[in-house]
Amino acid sequence: MELKTNLNKNQKITRKKLIKKYIEFFKSKGHSEIQNSPLIPENDATVLFTTAGMHPLVPYLLGQPHPKGKRLVNFQKCFRTTDIEEVGDQIHHTFFEMLGNWSLGDYFKEQAIKFTFEFLTKELKIPSEKLAATCFKGDLKLNIPKDIESEKIWNSLGIPKQKIIFLDKEDNWWGPAGNTGPCGPDTEIFYWTDKENIPEKYDPNNKNWVEIGNNVLMQYYKNEKGEFNTAKQKNIDFGGGVERTIAILQGYNDNYLTEVWQPIIKQIEKISRKTYGENKEQTKSIRIIADHIKASCFIIADNITPSNSEQGYILRRIIRRAIRHSKLINIPNKSLSKIAEPVFEIYDDYTHLQKNKNKIIKELEKEEEKFLQTLEKGLKEFKKLSKNNKEISGKDAFLLYQSYGFPIEMTQELAKEKKLKVNLKEFESEQKKHQNISRTATKGKFSSGLADNSEQTTKLHTATHLLHAALREVLGTEVQQKGSNITPERLRFDFMFNRKLTEQEIKKIENIINEKINESLEVTKQEMSPEQAKKSGALGFFEHKYGEIVSVYTIINPKTKQVFSKEICTGPHVKNTLELKSFKILKEESSSAGIRRIKAIIG
Ligand code: ATP
Ligand code: MG
Repeated sequence: MELKTNLNKNQKITRKKLIKKYIEFFKSKGHSEIQNSPLIPENDATVLFTTAGMHPLVPYLLGQPHPKGKRLVNFQKCFRTTDIEEVGDQIHHTFFEMLGNWSLGDYFKEQAIKFTFEFLTKELKIPSEKLAATCFKGDLKLNIPKDIESEKIWNSLGIPKQKIIFLDKEDNWWGPAGNTGPCGPDTEIFYWTDKENIPEKYDPNNKNWVEIGNNVLMQYYKNEKGEFNTAKQKNIDFGGGVERTIAILQGYNDNYLTEVWQPIIKQIEKISRKTYGENKEQTKSIRIIADHIKASCFIIADNITPSNSEQGYILRRIIRRAIRHSKLINIPNKSLSKIAEPVFEIYDDYTHLQKNKNKIIKELEKEEEKFLQTLEKGLKEFKKLSKNNKEISGKDAFLLYQSYGFPIEMTQELAKEKKLKVNLKEFESEQKKHQNISRTATKGKFSSGLADNSEQTTKLHTATHLLHAALREVLGTEVQQKGSNITPERLRFDFMFNRKLTEQEIKKIENIINEKINESLEVTKQEMSPEQAKKSGALGFFEHKYGEIVSVYTIINPKTKQVFSKEICTGPHVKNTLELKSFKILKEESSSAGIRRIKAIIG
């Protein structure tokens, strides 16, 4: 992506300037720039969001040659659900940008650490006295030695030994992404952010040391027996935080004081009449609101809308959390879209964000309106439920969820503020009970304000498998899924194929699927290891990471036992294809070079 930048040389290092410097530095070292991928992984159903620059590169880290070569660089937008709880401190966001450089079987440890050090100290002029590093301590059980090489390299560059410490697996080991695959130690680099004198030693418990980047050194390969051997292809993966780095360069120990946050913070200050930094709890709320609104804008820009499942649920959860915190600092109703306004100015280089501005604002307003209808009543109900109780029962938490639209995590947060627990197990069983009821219930009977079209989504999941199988039957088995996206209204399916389909082919595909729907095929689920799944002929993205156990869904004729489709998938699916009623292709078009896109509906 090209950055629009019109900064002159003497200005402070802003986000845009940092990214530009980074990309140019690594280009000058023989790296090719690769794209900043969407926040929603295109071909990977195993994770909901892109959490690091490395994520879209997994197939290449595993050995597939990358079309742009062995040295790559980019900046990547990321979203980490796992960091939601951390948001409120100075350095963690849910949405952030990561600088990344990779070697796919090219340079290794020494060169990687040298590049990192040169970039930080020469290009960015960070004083090396303020830097410290961590390396892997080794692990006897895994038979992996201590990473003294990395220590030596850092030391030779001028980082004294007291500022290089060895930590164990928890901190300085990466991977493999699945059961087997590339893995190895990592070496992290820290910056001293306090005005006080720089200590002589690095101390992992001192919060003034902030991690700015991390080199993952993939030198091992874990095989099926659990053994770690030297990898045939050794890779480097560097990831560095844009927000943390610009804060450091601008002399702040708080990311929110930089230009990628200030316009949003100022807007919140204006609307709430509160001052950032004045009061601890209010400052935390301001940070949470700013973070969650920014992240929501980017998630909606990647075509997700609030719902009750998967990415849509995470989006709903952060919007509603932002609304709850905005009430804590007296922000008037219907302010979300105003808080979002500055996001479009800060990130004027993201064209997809700009293009979707109207939609984003509308979705935020819609979700706010929906939640405001029940928030006050829900909070009153919560107050009642929490009075004289040590615990919020699962039933009550479910009531808050179903009748007032409180995501369970919000109830947990409210409970925590009152030092109460929530019975999560009971909540989950209540939720399951409800799901079973709504699956069998006649449509509409149990629908509440919050009810998503999950029944419809389930059907479209199964329709996607039927479509995949029918495409392979009509066009050949070289048809390979590239991506899939389901909204309650329709399914979208991207696959590798290099020409337009004919009308006859489209008809044929529809006919096959409608035939299969009417044959009343059964959908069954088995759990097995990814290797077993592959052996059994199930389709899946084997070049990607899977957990130890995967679910395989089979669409089978119960009488003839003939299998029509078999795929690895997280589900959910219908039990019988009859539930789909009928299938229709709305559109067949090109998605990008060599990739076709089909949109279809059912019912
Ligand atoms: P931390 O321990 O501080 O949470 P991490 O070990 O999770 O960091 P990595 O996964 O190594 O971080 O990511 C690479 C870099 O991305 C980090 O060095 C940091 O600069 C940045 N980074 C990671 N998580 C966040 C976040 N939640 N917000 C902002 N920047 C982040
Ligand atoms: Mg982290």
